Amino acid sequence: MNEYLHFIGNEWVTSASGQWFESENPYTGEQWARVSKGSSEEVDNAVAQAKTALDGEWGEYTPTERGKILVKLSELIERESEALGRIETKDNGKLFAEMSAQTKVMAEWYRYYGGLADKIEGSVLPATKKGIFNYTRYEPLGVIGLITAWNSPLLLLAFKLAPALAAGNTVVIKPSEYTSASTLEFMKLILEVGMPKGVVNTVAGFGNDVGQSLVEHPDVAKIAFTGSDVSGAKIKELAAKKIMPVTLELGGKSPNIVFDDADFEAAIIGAISGIFAATGQTCIAGSRLLVQKNIHDKFVKRLVEIASEAKIGDPMLADTHVGPVTTPPQFQKVLEYINIAKEEGARCVLGGKKYEGSNVSGDRFVEPTIFTGVSNDMRIAQEEVFGPILSIIPFEDEAEAVKIGNDIVYGLAAGVWTNDIGRALRMSEKLRAGTVWVNTYRALSYTAPFGGFKRSGEGRENGKEAIKEFLEVKSVWINHELSKENPFIMKL
Ligand code: NAD
Repeated sequence: MNEYLHFIGNEWVTSASGQWFESENPYTGEQWARVSKGSSEEVDNAVAQAKTALDGEWGEYTPTERGKILVKLSELIERESEALGRIETKDNGKLFAEMSAQTKVMAEWYRYYGGLADKIEGSVLPATKKGIFNYTRYEPLGVIGLITAWNSPLLLLAFKLAPALAAGNTVVIKPSEYTSASTLEFMKLILEVGMPKGVVNTVAGFGNDVGQSLVEHPDVAKIAFTGSDVSGAKIKELAAKKIMPVTLELGGKSPNIVFDDADFEAAIIGAISGIFAATGQTCIAGSRLLVQKNIHDKFVKRLVEIASEAKIGDPMLADTHVGPVTTPPQFQKVLEYINIAKEEGARCVLGGKKYEGSNVSGDRFVEPTIFTGVSNDMRIAQEEVFGPILSIIPFEDEAEAVKIGNDIVYGLAAGVWTNDIGRALRMSEKLRAGTVWVNTYRALSYTAPFGGFKRSGEGRENGKEAIKEFLEVKSVWINHELSKENPFIMKL
C-alpha cells in the first residue's frame, strides 16, 4: 500500500496523532494508499511555516522571480502529467483520458499566471488636491487556505494555486479526503522546482477537522474553496466571524438548451457530453436538458439511441465512456435521486438503476439514466445530483427557455444550441450564469473567467482578473507641500 504524509515546510510530516485514513480505488474497491490524517495541530504547523515564508525568503522574491519559478513548475508538470493523471483516476475513478488531459493542460495555468506575476501594476491617480502624490499598489493577502473537491483535484488546485503564488501569497492546501494522493504527489514537484520552504504546504484530512481549522485560523487571510454549496455556506459563515474574504466555487444545475434550428447531431453530442462525461460528476454538468417541443420526441429518441451505446467500465481503458461513481455516499445519493424522480412521476427512458455488467469489478456503477416528462419544479430538476442522471424538460419558445433556465437557485453554467446568431446573443445575455456556451459544452480555459452566479458561488477563477482575488489594493498618499492645515477637518 502506498503511503502519503503531509507536506509542511518542504518536509514530509506524519500526524502527531499517528492516525491514518485510506484512499480507495472506486473501480476496484481496493484500498490502495493510506494517508496521514491531519488535525488542527498540523494546520497550526503549516500556517506557521507559510507565515514565516511570507516574511522571509518568498517575501523577498521579485515578481519576475516568482513568475520564473511558476514557469519552471509548468515544465515539471508536463513531464509528470501522465503519472499524475493515473493517480487521479485511481483515486476518483474518472476516465484516465480526461484526468490525464487535465493534469497536462494544468501546466498552462502555472505558465499563464507565471507570466502575469510581473504585470501586476498599480497606478498613479489624478491629483484632486494640491501637493498630494497619490498612487495604488497591489500586495499579497498573506497566507491563503486552498480547499478542493474530489472530482478534479489538481486542476481545481491549479485554478487557485497558480494565481495565489503569482500574487506573492503563501498557501496551505487541504485536498478532499477522498483524493489526497495526487496533491501530495504534486508536492514532490514543489520540492524539485526549488520552491522556498513553507511557501506551499499540504495538510490531508477531513473537512470538519483540518478544513474547519484552516478556515478559523487567525493567520489565514483568505479561503479559496471548491465544493458543495452546503460546505460553502458553512465556510462563509465561519469566514464572516473573522471578516475574511472567500472565493467559493460551488455546485450547479445547469440548463443545456436545444432549439429546433440547432445542428441536430452536434446538439445530441453536446447533450451527452453535458451529463454523461465524467459520470455526471462535474459542477458544470448540463443536468437539465431543455428541448424545444417541436423536436422533443425526435431528439429524445436519438439521444437514448446514442447514450445507450456508452461503454461502461474500467476508467483506465481508452474506449470506456462512463466510469464508476467516485464515493460510496455519492453512489447512494445518485440511486436515491433515481427513486425520487420516479416517485415524482418522471418517466425513465434509459437506465435507472445500478449497473452490474460482468466487465466491471467494482460495485459503484450507475447506468446512464434519462428522465423525460420532468417539470422544472421537481426535485430532480432543482437539486444537484452529481451523477449520470439527465432530466429532460420541454419548452415552447425563447422566452420560456429563459424562464425555465433561470428558475433555479444555481447559476454556474448554461448551454445554448442554435444556428441563429441573434438568438445566441439574446440567450447569452438573458441566462443568469457565470459561463454560457453556444454550440459547445464543458469548455474551460485559463484565460476565461469562471465562477457562479447566485448559489453557485462567489468570486471568479481563471483569466487575468482572477489574480486580484489574491491581492489587496493599497492607496498611498504623499504630501509634498507641507503646510499648516486645520487638524479638525477631514481632507476631502
Ligand atoms: P464537499 O463540499 O463535500 O467538499 C469539498 C472540500 O471541502 C473537501 O476538501 C472537504 O473536506 C472540505 N470541507 C467540507 N466541509 C468543510 C468545512 N466545514 N470546512 C472546511 N472544509 C470543508 O464537496 P465534494 O463532495 O468534495 O465536491 C462536490 C461538490 O463540489 C459539488 O457540489 C460540485 O458541484 C462542486 N464543485 C464545484 C466546482 C466549481 O468550480 N464551481 C468544481 C468542482 C466541484
